[in-house]
Amino acid sequence: MQITLEGKTKDLVAIERIHEYAKLSDLPLYIASSFGKDSEVATHLVIRSGVPYEIHNQVTGIDPPELVYFGRKYHPEAIRHYPKESIWKLIERKGLPTRRNRWCCQLLKETGGIGRFVITGIRHEESARRAKRPMIEIRKRKSFLHPIIDWTLLDVWSYIETNNLPYCSLYDTSFDRLGCIGCPLSSNQSYEFKIYPKIAEAWHRATLRCFEKRKDLHTISRFKDGEQMWRWWLSGKRIDHFTGENMVQMDLSNEIAAKRCSQEVMELGV
Ligand code: SF4
Repeated sequence: MQITLEGKTKDLVAIERIHEYAKLSDLPLYIASSFGKDSEVATHLVIRSGVPYEIHNQVTGIDPPELVYFGRKYHPEAIRHYPKESIWKLIERKGLPTRRNRWCCQLLKETGGIGRFVITGIRHEESARRAKRPMIEIRKRKSFLHPIIDWTLLDVWSYIETNNLPYCSLYDTSFDRLGCIGCPLSSNQSYEFKIYPKIAEAWHRATLRCFEKRKDLHTISRFKDGEQMWRWWLSGKRIDHFTGENMVQMDLSNEIAAKRCSQEVMELGV
């Protein structure tokens, strides 16, 4: 475990942060856990700090099954929050989530902890977006402490090893981060779909249903059919870039077809 500038180990600094934060809350701290490695470390630090806590988990319905089993086995006491509407129904109603419009995070992951003092395992290193989050966020609606925000990946794994913490078996395969299967923000989406073909098919079917229900909308009417919409979503491109490229391809194939046709006409001597 790395030593900080104050000469303390990072875990002791994190525990101090938790102690200070817990003083602000009349209720037990609300641990927002995904049961991933970072959540496990944050949970363990809260337990070590000895302050009252509850573990909460937002069930998205598209978590890797291995992570769900891990949570059931090691945290049967966790309070699980189920969505009012499944992601598949939501897609029919709201369209597909994208990198720029991640509405599902808001509806499936960020609904819990209102009026509470929340603990998360998020870290600056994880993404450019997370790099901008401060360690502590005190707000009226929901406050946050991210006690391991300045930890590196190595810090996390060395803490897990030193404290002999259990972790989800997927980390021993080719997954280094766990989250919703098929998330449009994931750089691993195609690999995830290979490993979990049933979930891939569920995304696919939801896309086709969404197209059928919403094809009168201007944005969706730009696709020829649900399959083209599915291909667009898998491409990760902006709709105008994707449909633009497809139009060019269609123009090219029309041109080729037209050339072939006139050649045939010439050969036939018509
Ligand atoms: S699929 Fe991605 S964007 Fe949607 S809830 Fe899951 S992590 Fe958030």
